[in-house]
Parts: sequence; C-alpha cells; structure tokens
Amino acid sequence: MKILVIGSGGREHALALKFKQDAKVSEVYCAPGNPLMAKDGIHCLDISMDDFSTLIDFAKENAISWTFVGPEIPLFNGIVDAFQAAGLQIFGPSQSASRLESSKHFAKEVMEAQGVPTAAYAAYNNLDQARAAVKAADFPLVIKADGPAAGKGVKIVQDLASGLEFLEEIFSDNRYGSQSEVVIEEYLEGVEFSCFSLVGKGQVLHLPLAQDHKRAYDHDLGPNTGGMGAYSPVPFVSQSVFNEVVNQIVEPVLKEMAARNCPYYGVLYTGLILTQAGPKVIEFNTRFGDPETQVVLPLLGDNFAEVIDDLLHGRPSQLTWEGDQVSLGVVLAAEGYPGTYQKGMVLDELITKLLDELQVYGAGVELREGRYEAMGGRILMLVAKGPSYEICREQVYQYLGQHPIAGTFYRKDIGHWVLDKREG
Ligand code: ATP
Repeated sequence: MKILVIGSGGREHALALKFKQDAKVSEVYCAPGNPLMAKDGIHCLDISMDDFSTLIDFAKENAISWTFVGPEIPLFNGIVDAFQAAGLQIFGPSQSASRLESSKHFAKEVMEAQGVPTAAYAAYNNLDQARAAVKAADFPLVIKADGPAAGKGVKIVQDLASGLEFLEEIFSDNRYGSQSEVVIEEYLEGVEFSCFSLVGKGQVLHLPLAQDHKRAYDHDLGPNTGGMGAYSPVPFVSQSVFNEVVNQIVEPVLKEMAARNCPYYGVLYTGLILTQAGPKVIEFNTRFGDPETQVVLPLLGDNFAEVIDDLLHGRPSQLTWEGDQVSLGVVLAAEGYPGTYQKGMVLDELITKLLDELQVYGAGVELREGRYEAMGGRILMLVAKGPSYEICREQVYQYLGQHPIAGTFYRKDIGHWVLDKREG
C-alpha cells in the first residue's frame, strides 16, 4: 500500500510513522509534513493541505492506495467529498458530517435527538437574546462560539461582566472569525478524557482512551492551549463507564447522523467529562486529537494501516494493542505560547541525541541551513512507552532536563491525575 497523510503536526507525524510500521505499506507520503517526519523516512511533499486539486493529482499519479486526513480544516472545506468525486479512497467524514465539529449547535441538536448525555444548553443567533440569557443565568457558565475558532472560541465565565464581554467579542469584534451563533451551556464538574472511534462501513472500532492537559501551566493553570501533554490509557475510567460512552454516546450519535442523511465515516473523537452523574460530552472532533494521537498510536500493533484499509473496504477488522504498556508524552513549547512566542531556538542537541526508548514528534520545527529550529508555539512532543506511567514520566523528564533549550518551556506535571492519585 502507498499512503498519503494530510497535515504537518505531531499528530500527522505519529500517524505516518504508525502506517510505515505496517509490513503491507511500501511508502508513506505526507503533505506538507515536517522535517522531523522526513528524518523518520516519511516523504514530505511541498503541497499545501488546502490545495485539493494538486493533492488529488499527486494521489492519482502516484497510485496512492488511500489518503488519511489529520487536521479538521480540510475536512470542513470538503476534502473528502473532493477526493471521492475524483474516484479516490480517503478516510474521513464528508463536509456535511464534519459539522459535528464545525458547528457546536449542530452537535448539540444531534445529541439532543438521541438523549445523549451532555451539558444543558441553549443557542442564540443574536446578541441581545444571548445577553438576556447570560443575565438570567447562574455562574460559572460556558459560552461557545458556534463555529471553529482554533480553541479560542470557548470560555468558562465566572461572572456577568466577563460573560457579556465575551459575547460582545464573539458577535461584534469578529475576534474569533465570523460567528453568527453562540451556544451557552451548563458548566460540568469533573475530570476530562477522550475517546477515539474509527468508523468504517458497517463497523466501529475503539482505541485506548487518552487524557490531554489543555492548560499552559502546571496544576492546570493558565490559558487554554492546543494541548501540553497526554497519556494513554486512562485507568480511572472503568470498563462500565467506557461501555456507557460507546452505547449511550458514540453509537446513538452515529445512528442519528445516518438518519440525517449524513452518515459518519472516519475518526470520531469524543471529548468527555466524567461527572458524578456519569460521562457527559463536551465536544466532538471529526479527526484525531493532537497531542493524544502521539500517545495512543504507539500502543497499537503494527497492523494499523491494514485496519484502516479494512474499514475503507468494509472488511471485518480488529485493532490490537499491548495491554501491559502505557505511554506518556510532554510537549515542548516556545516561551510566550499560547500568546506571542519566541522563534529560532536551535533544537539539534535534543533531537539528534534521542534515546531508543523515546520518540520525538515534530510540530513547529523547521530545518534551516542543516539545523533544526523552533518555528511554532508547540515545537515538538517527546513520548515514552513502557510498563508504567512512572517509568515513562521519568524517562521523558530526565531527557528534557538533560537537554535544556533556552526560550522554551514545558509542563512538569503531565500525568498528575494518575501519578499523584488525584480523584476524578
Ligand atoms: P474551538 O471551537 O474554539 O476550537 P474547542 O472545540 O477546543 O474550541 P471545547 O472542547 O468545546 O472547545 O472546549 C474547550 C475546553 O473548555 C474543554 O476542553 C473543557 O476544558 C472546557 N469546557 C468546554 N465545555 C465545558 C463544560 N460544559 N463544562 C466545563 N468545561 C467545559
């Protein structure tokens, strides 16, 4: 098989590497990819992930077996529809099905229709009505811009003044893109975790659960980020809670999507909070999460590409993973992230001396005059796989501590929910 991965971050690096491990795969290409993928033997292409026609030409000319989409924006822009119209195989939801992520109101309607447990909500498409709702509400309250806003369109507001200010920013300032609607929802108390499902023709397979750490600083303080570290699996989620997620959330949502004439195929990421009343949905993503992918995929057996191939062709399939192994990863970020951050720090010391038990996934890294330099807010992620969270954490932090890079920072408490035995 020859596989094309769309995207350029750590998630796509983890996907491409996993596909490459499958003996049935001869070549893995990534558009546009990143220099650390190239170092791992993945062919990076100078094609933008928005340039569907050039991607389609490449896939045809190079007899690509199928394409796997990493990030959400190409899905929202209809890459799956475009590839399928060109007669090509691609793993991901259609533009219409990707509304499960691109419209929070749509996702709420789908959940509501099936009685899926989620925060109580109301949606408003006008500022005055939204203001009135916030004035009548109790705090804390969660306000979400309906459309995608790169993680910035959601705020937990503690009082009326900040609620009204956020509404103003969403509707009037266009600060989070052109948003015409808000979802205002109940604040859910509990610990977060993520569930990944692979949806193919006639079957759904579930991967090990993961937990991300979204806040920038230790003790879950500071602003929200794209994710500062993760681990997998998640031992505080019992089998019965997992079954609830599958039977009361994932399956009913897929049923509802089919009933609405937009059947769902691809990766379904369910973001959950484990409340005292059980698991409740906070969001759906229509693709893998970053950085969770970088800790989930290393646990899987080498037949991941074959599994995706089976799902695309409607053949019964099975995921395998090592049940006695766990993984944990820490993101190295540029000082200032998620605000304005530094660039240009040289990373060679850290990247080129990597130990066998560690894997580095690139994100904001560029190769300039033979040196690896930091060029993004989240620069790279260092992941260890091993028999315990303690051992993985020790390996990652020891290595990061031995290779300090000025102008960068990382959280020192990734895995605290399992390692410090805090209750969920
Ligand atoms: P964007 O649309 O801007 O990209 P997003 O899709 O990342 O944002 P969500 O995942 O819905 O937004 O919310 C971001 C974070 O806010 C969640 O990871 C969670 O920590 C918190 N959050 C969202 N909804 C709730 C809720 N109802 N109760 C408590 N916390 C919430």
